[in-house]
Amino acid sequence: MTTDPKIKEARDRLAHARSVAVLTGAGISADSGVPTFRGTDGLWRNVRAEDLATPEAFERDPRLVWEWYDWRRTLLASIKPNAAHEALATLEARQDRFHLITQNVDGLHHLAGSRRVLELHGDIWKVRCVRCRRVTDNRDVPLALLPQCDSCDGLLRPHIVWFGEALDHKVLEASVSAVESCDILLIVGTSGLVYPAAMLMPTAKANGAVVMEVNLDATPYSAHADFSFQGCAKDIVPLLL
Ligand code: NAD
Ligand code: ZN
Repeated sequence: MTTDPKIKEARDRLAHARSVAVLTGAGISADSGVPTFRGTDGLWRNVRAEDLATPEAFERDPRLVWEWYDWRRTLLASIKPNAAHEALATLEARQDRFHLITQNVDGLHHLAGSRRVLELHGDIWKVRCVRCRRVTDNRDVPLALLPQCDSCDGLLRPHIVWFGEALDHKVLEASVSAVESCDILLIVGTSGLVYPAAMLMPTAKANGAVVMEVNLDATPYSAHADFSFQGCAKDIVPLLL
């Protein structure tokens, strides 16, 4: 338990909130050891994520894209949620009106016990048939290259929103409506540069929400947040409960 008065005030506010929305990004999983795209450890065979996570790359060379995803899934398979993921699962359990919006695809919120997760960018543990569009869970590590659909033999692809693709509009609408109706928006470990995450904070503010941020560094959000805490997500988020 901390004596920092700002932390204590944020904790009191969260304890009395009627409706809470949380937005997480790659930073919350950094404490579990998940490589970020932008860090050098995110590079694979010297190819940039931006050149692999696209529909064009998959059309050109599905095997190469699947090899990259297989590598990422293999790394993730042994990684565990940290204290920040766990604290958010606890928050969900005590809060009637709660939404967790994440840009992460690593599935760590689910592993920590979160149930109502809005995955803006999809889930690396799901696959989708390019022909019949059926989405299924798949935790095979390593994965058979190239995986095929059980129902129609079509090629499977990762159920991920790639660069240049539209977000699932249902997930996006639910996220916007969550931030419009929340008393508190808690933002953890996101640079806030990528759409639509970038517009969720102004939407929450415009609707009168209190905004709290946890990040290792200052971000475009920091100056506008009511509470801005700098440090590791795994150390700070548990203090807010
Ligand atoms: P980002 O890389 O743009 O920003 C990460 C943010 O986390 C930075 O602001 C950084 O200061 C902060 N951060 C780093 N370590 C932290 C820590 N220990 N505690 C608190 N904050 C910390 O990430 P983004 O905003 O999520 O956008 C990147 C995109 O890449 C997303 O769309 C996401 O889908 C994808 N991505 C996902 C994963 C994942 O699923 N874990 C990993 C890499 C990238
Ligand atoms: Zn199919």
